[in-house]
Amino acid sequence: MSDCIFCKVAAGEIPATLIYEDDHVVAFDDIAPQAPVHSLIIPRAHYRDLADDVPAEVLAALLGAVPRVAAAKGVDASGYRVIINTGEHASQTVKHLHVHLMGGAQMVHGMVTFAEGE
Ligand code: 5GP
Ligand code: ZN
Repeated sequence: MSDCIFCKVAAGEIPATLIYEDDHVVAFDDIAPQAPVHSLIIPRAHYRDLADDVPAEVLAALLGAVPRVAAAKGVDASGYRVIINTGEHASQTVKHLHVHLMGGAQMVHGMVTFAEGE
């Protein structure tokens, strides 16, 4: 996808410091962090979201990278939250499947919030 920013990150066309990479995925910090540690893990190949017929080996690589990225960011012992926004109600903004890894401070239990009036 030529106009996809995460395809460009994966291809090295948009600069990002990679935390982790393998044949299927790359990981880098979010440009607008919402937690002291906020990293993203994305497949190298373009999939719109979790419902885009993602091969099992890619799904395994995405989640398999999570503890590695957590360790690299120093939150493996303290814990972290993993979020995969999927579609409109989740407010997914970048339409290239990505896993958010967030940590570095205590979060409240049940962080999900809804827009006013919903
Ligand atoms: P979503 O809301 O789609 O689940 O999350 C998209 C995330 O991508 C947001 O947290 C946003 O800050 C991040 N993001 C958008 N553009 C870029 C970029 O060019 N570089 C990086 N590192 N993160 C980005
Ligand atoms: Zn893409």
